[in-house]
Amino acid sequence: MTVREYLSPRSLPEALSLMERYGPDLLVMAGGTVAMPLINDGISLPERVMGLRHAGLDGIAQRGDVLGIGAATTLTQLLAQDAVPLLREAARNTASWSIRNMGTVGGNLFTPPPGGDVAVALLALDARVRLAGPRGERTLPLADFFTGFMTNALAEDELLVEIQVPTTVRETAFIKFGRKHANTPAVVTVAIAVERRDGRIGTARIALGAAGPHPIRVADAEAAIVGSALESDAIQRAADAAMRECRPFTDAIATEWYRRRMVGVFVKRALERVVA
Ligand SMILES: Cc1cc2nc3c(=O)[nH]c(=O)nc-3n(C[C@H](O)[C@H](O)[C@H](O)COP(=O)(O)OP(=O)(O)OC[C@H]3O[C@@H](n4cnc5c(N)ncnc54)[C@H](O)[C@@H]3O)c2cc1C
Repeated sequence: MTVREYLSPRSLPEALSLMERYGPDLLVMAGGTVAMPLINDGISLPERVMGLRHAGLDGIAQRGDVLGIGAATTLTQLLAQDAVPLLREAARNTASWSIRNMGTVGGNLFTPPPGGDVAVALLALDARVRLAGPRGERTLPLADFFTGFMTNALAEDELLVEIQVPTTVRETAFIKFGRKHANTPAVVTVAIAVERRDGRIGTARIALGAAGPHPIRVADAEAAIVGSALESDAIQRAADAAMRECRPFTDAIATEWYRRRMVGVFVKRALERVVA
């Protein structure tokens, strides 16, 4: 069976009513860079596809100290904003120009490992996600959105509408290490956001991609630098803790063994980048 109908709602209420009407048989598609190859290869065979391109879910808006990023905002649009440099850096390291012109920030949260590079940066930034469904809207921390390998907190009849990012000033670093210099899947991705109080680290977020079933934070590594002035021994303790805590996997890109070691190397380098 191939796709028989492509639906293009012009608003969020219209999109939600189509979901209610067709139920789980309706495939939601944003930029299509993950969903389309699966259809083309016959792995996913939906009868109906609903595209979000014209549903009014794109755009970036600053509201007080929160940046609201519409779920259907493209990665190219994210690259153009300058309110949150870490997100620009993450977008720059994701795929190629052509994929970034189609692929969306929302879609990045659904990308199977080792993908989801922007999601790693969003996790380090304490982002929240706004979900909408027939019972209304709810927001939850991105950390609670991911529940397992290719599973998340989104109900069958809900859409991801917006990602909300606090824009309070933080020191950040982003490193994606792949087998090629650019346009490459991650061996490991590291995103860090810290806040200092009187020169010492007050809060720390260290998020990893391709080191677990979904983007993860490494709490012991974060704890290793809180209270420090990011001296080299604190950085080394954080890198060692991250290596112990991460849950990497083996795929065509790298082995679990290699990924774990690269977590140590790149958490250390990213923290040194914060210091620099
Ligand atoms: C050649 C190539 C290279 C790539 N390189 C990278 C890379 O380096 N780093 C990286 O992170 N990713 C990479 N990707 C993966 C992908 O392009 C990005 O992750 C992109 O952000 C996915 O967004 P999309 O809108 O295209 O997702 P889509 O394909 O449109 O969506 C995928 C699925 O997500 C769900 N979904 C999407 N939006 C919503 C929503 N608003 N509400 C509910 N469900 C939703 C749907 O189930 C949908 O089927 C690459 C892809 C390709 C083809």
